[in-house]
Amino acid sequence: MRVCIIGTGYVGLVSGACLAELGHQVTCVDVNEKRVEAIQRRKIPFFEAGLDELLERHVDNRLNATTDLRSAVRRSEMSFIAVGTPFDGESIDVSYVRQAASEIGAVLAEIDEYHVVVVKSTVVPGTTDDVVKPILDAASGKRCGVDFGLCMNPEFLSEGSAVHDFLFPDRLVFGGIDERSTRVLERLYTPFPLSVPRLRTNTRTAEMIKYASNALLAALISFSNEIANLGAKIGGIDATEVMRGVHLSQYFREQVTDQLPGITTFLKAGCGFGGSCLPKDVKALIAHGRKAGASMQLLESVIRVNEQQPARTIELLRRHASTLEGLRVAILGLSFKPGTDDVRESPAFPIMKELLAQGARLKAFDPIANDEARKVFDDTRVTYCSDLTSAIADIDAVIVVTPWKEFQETPELLRDRQPAVVFVDGRRAFDRDCVPLYAGIGL
Ligand code: NAD
Repeated sequence: MRVCIIGTGYVGLVSGACLAELGHQVTCVDVNEKRVEAIQRRKIPFFEAGLDELLERHVDNRLNATTDLRSAVRRSEMSFIAVGTPFDGESIDVSYVRQAASEIGAVLAEIDEYHVVVVKSTVVPGTTDDVVKPILDAASGKRCGVDFGLCMNPEFLSEGSAVHDFLFPDRLVFGGIDERSTRVLERLYTPFPLSVPRLRTNTRTAEMIKYASNALLAALISFSNEIANLGAKIGGIDATEVMRGVHLSQYFREQVTDQLPGITTFLKAGCGFGGSCLPKDVKALIAHGRKAGASMQLLESVIRVNEQQPARTIELLRRHASTLEGLRVAILGLSFKPGTDDVRESPAFPIMKELLAQGARLKAFDPIANDEARKVFDDTRVTYCSDLTSAIADIDAVIVVTPWKEFQETPELLRDRQPAVVFVDGRRAFDRDCVPLYAGIGL
């Protein structure tokens, strides 16, 4: 099929490249000229494993990039809206979605062919029906559901494994305003095997599925952190073992293979969740609930617990250091998770901010996210290091924020240092006996 994708961020570009891989003819559109030029030169504007190979294979063939939305929509049967929906403190900002819808609508006015507009951005329930549809109707002078179609198709990919997640989806959710629109969207995904569960629903339910999915994952993380924090206060309890004990329940274990399902990776204590989705989506849902007259007390607590985790991480350091004034600390990991250079809402920043406020001297290292981190945390008091060895040279303490496998040898490198270096494991990614002065979340 001929598809156009508006927005070439993590979701738009990965979706575009993967749809090309599935055999579709894709045009990616962005207002950011640099981004478009980079894609045309087969360069990805961010780090995502496997994406470079797809660009190499498909750019100038089945995948093209342009800033010219009009021509892209005109030569497509479907237009996906995959622009950002940031949280502005009170609600999600759908101005980019509005803008994209308005521009697509203006092109719909010019074309005779039946066209389906698909909202792929994460938007609060009601946005597709109440915001996007009226804009498309007004800008096109046509009638949605008669002259053109409209769907909501949430995206569940995870940064760091986005290409794999898109090409091997766990589910496909098709929220359509009518049968005809939904059928067109389903056709796009026919290359996927029938074993992939497909859920047909209305647009509002599709929107809510995305929020409910992210809110549940965030709740599991904060739940684990709350249990870990209590365990640490009581003393003599290891949260990792507690969660292992929980996982062993028949509800969390495949009885046949004895394997733990993926959900258990969210039942783990740590220095807090970040990224461009979980914090934003949970806050947006809370704000949306407030407007709808339904307070979301559980989710409010999920955010509160999460926002306290950076301070809890620093408390671990304080157990071994009477003062942070002048303490030389290495922060290992700046991206919100391994496998990505996305630093949005990474707990590394509140941790660094607080350490600096208390007089610590900081070095920081991430295998790939140093440049992104510097853009949002450009403080002369932080020395960004280009490798692990220089990051952990001449330090009193280390805090592991992101469990990159590149940090695995850190305990080995620190083991014989005198005086011993305090090792704060913000992700419980290391053995508690790996160094003499180990302090892990929930221990
Ligand atoms: P992003 O901020 O990385 O990229 C958005 C892109 O849209 C930018 O390149 C921007 O220049 C472009 N853009 C904005 N307005 C435009 C317009 N009018 N025309 C053309 N281009 C325009 O965003 P993202 O992380 O890819 O997220 C996009 C949406 O997908 C969000 O709603 C997000 O919540 C959702 N989502 C994200 C992820 C994720 O892991 N990042 C996963 C699932 C869903």
